Amino acid sequence: MAASVTDRFLRYVVIDTQSDAASSTQPSTEKQKNLGRLLVEELLEIGISDAHLDEHGYVYATIPSNTVKNNVPVICLCAHMDTAPDFSGTNVKPQIVRNYQGGDIRLPGDPSQVIRVADHPVLKDQIGNDIITSDGTTLLGADDKAGIAEIMAAAGLLVNNPDIRHGTIRILFTTDEEIGRGVDKVDLKKLGADFGYTMDGETAGTVEDETFSADAVEIAIKGVAIHPGFAYGKMENAIKIAAAILEHLPKDMGPEMTKDRDGFIHPVNVSGTMEKAKLSFIVRDFTEDGLKSKEALLEEITKKVMQGYLGSSYTFTVREQYRNMKIVLDQHPEIVANAMEAIGRAGMTPARGSIRGGTDGSRLSFMGLPCANIFAGGHAFHSPLEFVSSQDMERAVKTIVELAKLWEERA
Ligand SMILES: [Zn+2]
Repeated sequence: MAASVTDRFLRYVVIDTQSDAASSTQPSTEKQKNLGRLLVEELLEIGISDAHLDEHGYVYATIPSNTVKNNVPVICLCAHMDTAPDFSGTNVKPQIVRNYQGGDIRLPGDPSQVIRVADHPVLKDQIGNDIITSDGTTLLGADDKAGIAEIMAAAGLLVNNPDIRHGTIRILFTTDEEIGRGVDKVDLKKLGADFGYTMDGETAGTVEDETFSADAVEIAIKGVAIHPGFAYGKMENAIKIAAAILEHLPKDMGPEMTKDRDGFIHPVNVSGTMEKAKLSFIVRDFTEDGLKSKEALLEEITKKVMQGYLGSSYTFTVREQYRNMKIVLDQHPEIVANAMEAIGRAGMTPARGSIRGGTDGSRLSFMGLPCANIFAGGHAFHSPLEFVSSQDMERAVKTIVELAKLWEERA
């Protein structure tokens, strides 16, 4: 098994699957299908005969139930094939530090890239493990090819060990998760699952049942434009109004000043002329109330600033992006309970966490497939310092197998 999950991972990371937010197609980049085709081929080799790639680049496959019980919930295992646009995923050259003995890891392709223990204290838990990194010139793609490799290895194990009893398991590999479109074209009816797990978390042993709730806010300002030579007492420059709004944002409420369970208000774009200006924000919080109060605060600031510009006007538009999946998961406590138990049976101390972001699972949960997020073992996502250990990926494979057994046992 050790060779299997790591070998798979090393095969998948060399395939460039970077997604592209600027593209309007699905998948956003055609190259994501190269990995999809390989995965289908490997699933067919394992003996999963319905494995296929659909026209949107998703991979669907079914591990048939092998239990006499007919009331075992259908479980979906999900991971995403794309890698983040933040850093190059072309020509990934994976490196393995075998039997890691501590200390910083300098990456051979770019000696300025060093995975430092001071920045990544989780390295201290990796002593004796085999750590996989990129050569420093690209990201590694453990996010989320570790999750893909783990699901593939677990599928192989389940199919080849019929003594392990389990219900129907549906595999779903998505495209374009990193650009927020991971589940846009998922056919939930075809998937036919009751509950799901994304294998897309970080530290071994963790299950995440919470994501941010997320809105986008746009403030459009209309100023009073006039020839600067005749402007005295009349001009109201929309650029300056926009700047005043930004200046009044609470300093302690930006992403750079918040952590753990704090939300934030974060300007992501400014554009403007004297006549009109536009401010785009993302607002994040774990609770609906927190989200609403941050938006109210933002509008309050805008109103106050506008009081100094009586000839100008503004519009304030809130657009929902995604919601904290905990709202859905709390209605089905067995999803997280079984994941925690499986992690324990796989030899780890389970820990429950929250994600300062969203996942495919947060959206799937609200589309009707409640989905928690299980660790995949990777660290330092979206950067050339990304790393994952073989041993943590093996722990994830064990967790999936135990999870499959648990749903059957408890049915
Ligand atoms: Zn991911």
